Amino acid sequence: MSFEIRDRDLLARIGKFETKRGIIETPLLLPVINPNVQLIPPRILQEEFGCRALITNAYILKTHFEDEIIEQGLHDFLDFNGVFMTDSGAYQILVYGDVEVTSEEIVRFQEEIDTDIATILDVPTSWTTSKQQAQRTVNETMRKARELAKIKTRDDIAWVGPVQGGQYLDLVAQSASEIGKLPFQIHALGSPTPIMEQYLFDVLVDMILTAKKNLPLERPLHLFGAGHPFMFALAIALGCDLFDSAAYALYAREERYMTEYGTTRFDKLEYFPCSCPLCNKNDPQSVAAMPKIERQKLLAQHNLYTSFSELRRIKQAIMEGRLWEHLELRAHGHPALLKAVKHLKKHSGYLEKQSPVTKKSGLFFFSSLGLTRPEVVRHRERLLERYLPPKEAEVLVLLPQTRKKPFSKSWEHRRALKYIQQNLGDKMGKVHVCTYAAPFGVIPRELEEVYPLSQYELATPLDAEMIEYVAKRISEYIITMNYKKVALLRNIEMWKGKIATACRRACKKKKISFTMLSVDQSWNERMLKDFAAVIQKTLS
Ligand SMILES: [Zn+2]
Repeated sequence: MSFEIRDRDLLARIGKFETKRGIIETPLLLPVINPNVQLIPPRILQEEFGCRALITNAYILKTHFEDEIIEQGLHDFLDFNGVFMTDSGAYQILVYGDVEVTSEEIVRFQEEIDTDIATILDVPTSWTTSKQQAQRTVNETMRKARELAKIKTRDDIAWVGPVQGGQYLDLVAQSASEIGKLPFQIHALGSPTPIMEQYLFDVLVDMILTAKKNLPLERPLHLFGAGHPFMFALAIALGCDLFDSAAYALYAREERYMTEYGTTRFDKLEYFPCSCPLCNKNDPQSVAAMPKIERQKLLAQHNLYTSFSELRRIKQAIMEGRLWEHLELRAHGHPALLKAVKHLKKHSGYLEKQSPVTKKSGLFFFSSLGLTRPEVVRHRERLLERYLPPKEAEVLVLLPQTRKKPFSKSWEHRRALKYIQQNLGDKMGKVHVCTYAAPFGVIPRELEEVYPLSQYELATPLDAEMIEYVAKRISEYIITMNYKKVALLRNIEMWKGKIATACRRACKKKKISFTMLSVDQSWNERMLKDFAAVIQKTLS
């Protein structure tokens, strides 16, 4: 059983996981099959929705249909020949207290029914539990995880090792690092219902990343109970590979209509904002006139179409290296999601370390939200840790960004450089021309064409946080490097005077001289000639 990663973006990966019934591609959504109530039968899921994998509950199967299933096998019993994952019934423990099966029975049962991906009977951490109780669930789950090796008799089933700890991140870390040492093929993180119900996605970010940091990255991670397409982009960007959805059916029964950016009550719909086969063929008025069960079936199918199409959109975004842009788009679908994406700032260092370095596409920056992006963090780190300005450079010349990139190819910079060169002649080597630009900060001329410093588009006017970030980067750059002087060409319209203030303070701290002049949008020759003269003066 192997997990082969084909493509990556942020912490997301497109991977192929091998099971005894074939390969599944991640990120993957497994619709939940409740053997007692089937709005859409497994065969239809396979034939019409192309589902390669489903998830069902071993505890419910064992309680209601034990003998029939053992005789027929799970796949015949539920009429599906793709990959089956079984959950153990741990959720039932959480909701109903102790379940009347032992962990040994559940392990044996899953082997007997010939499931493909099986889960040990872990002990979920409830949301309202005390830390002491949460510690107990972590310890109990580990005890059961260690027992597995002694109980199991087959080697062709992939076993899931769940991570517990709930909202106690130190316990999540402990749980993940201990279970990651055992030979499980997949890990899973329980996302307690309150997170989904109360939209605590910032908490979820911390939980997922704590688990990721402590688990072996080469194993897929399943996020339990996160079946709404509007949060797939967030969870996948953080490295979750597998999802289960009971939501498509539960929502349908409550007559709720999923979209990739949220949920709408069916009775509020005048139009179907979707082009799945069902929404194309029907309108809300005709669906309202259907018998209830027909309507619920239709809504369940629509909900699944929506979920699968969002997954495909995310996979395509991963391939194109545009997952961040997609995530920002989804973040603006709900304030709680936006809060979670803002919260990613706290983890920007880890995101940077885990994200692929070279991508295929240019980057779009819409706002200061983009400052968390790995490319921005990476430029800052590399500049401070690995970069040295040319040895003979005494004066740092800072020119404002232009619309055209690389900046040195813009008419504005060419014009400015022409005058600087005219004035300086053979002293040109003593100045080091850099651009200050959002969102990266200082971009030395010789690095301009390094990806992605010329391959991005940015929305202006800049927001206050973006301006402040760039000002800080410039200040940090001046303090770290060893220039003797700084000459700033300022653009007040764009930077509101913040860059000049930052430069002046940094130069004062560093005890070096600072001069500046302004340009407006016209970059007129008079101003540029004056600027060149000022630079020359600093050298004489
Ligand atoms: Zn639809």
